[in-house]
Amino acid sequence: MLVFSWSLVALLLVSSSLAEEDVATMEEDMSRELSVGELLERANRDRNPDLDEPILIEGDIAIKSEADRNADPCTSRNCLWRKWTNGKVYIPYYIANHYSSREISIITRGLESFSSMSCIHFRPYQNGDNEWLSIESRDGCYSYVGRQGGAQTVSLSRQGCLYHSTVQHELLHALGFNHEQTRSDRDSYISVQWENIIDGMAYNFNKIATLNQGTPYDYNSVMQYERYAFSKNGRATMVPIPNSNVSFGQATQMSKNDIDRLNRLYQC
Ligand SMILES: [Zn+2]
Repeated sequence: MLVFSWSLVALLLVSSSLAEEDVATMEEDMSRELSVGELLERANRDRNPDLDEPILIEGDIAIKSEADRNADPCTSRNCLWRKWTNGKVYIPYYIANHYSSREISIITRGLESFSSMSCIHFRPYQNGDNEWLSIESRDGCYSYVGRQGGAQTVSLSRQGCLYHSTVQHELLHALGFNHEQTRSDRDSYISVQWENIIDGMAYNFNKIATLNQGTPYDYNSVMQYERYAFSKNGRATMVPIPNSNVSFGQATQMSKNDIDRLNRLYQC
């Protein structure tokens, strides 16, 4: 709290001379403690998407058509990125030119974090690439699940999506992963409080055949939403069991299980 107060004082004192980027830096500092789920919820709360933007499910998962709403878009088809004979998975990316250098460095740090922990190597788009991630600031934070073919948008809005946790979260979607709370075994770990979910949003808690790779349910996964996700009344929509007081959904970066799961899926 003390830190926050000093940040606020500093912001007030120098606000008149601050460039836009400095303000963004301070906003990030103040949000450092927010979990990935809270950041995504905040960024995607009042979306007003352009007509060419995809339908989103589960808050931040893009789908190509209504028909994909109930299918698991990754396990029902080949969604993995190709592995090269040297054992590495090279995934081309293109970063739109509307980001500041500070924003690009957050995105790049997220992209590069994968190569130190797995065989996944994101690399800049080159002429002749057939499939790549197009990282753009659209309306909100979102990604498709798994490889789509051609250019696939990963939206990291300049308004609220440029954090290490949100970058890693959206990249894990693009690599084929879904949300922790939709795992088929989640009822053993999370009790969904259906009566507290916003009307029409219950489908966000449908269980699906996620790519668990033998790893345990992980409350600290960067893919786990927090206790009040999609709440219509401020009450919890998810309660951990058997101990309802256990902290969950507070990740600010990939967990050990997230990394293990990735390495097993791609056989790194
Ligand atoms: Zn997500």
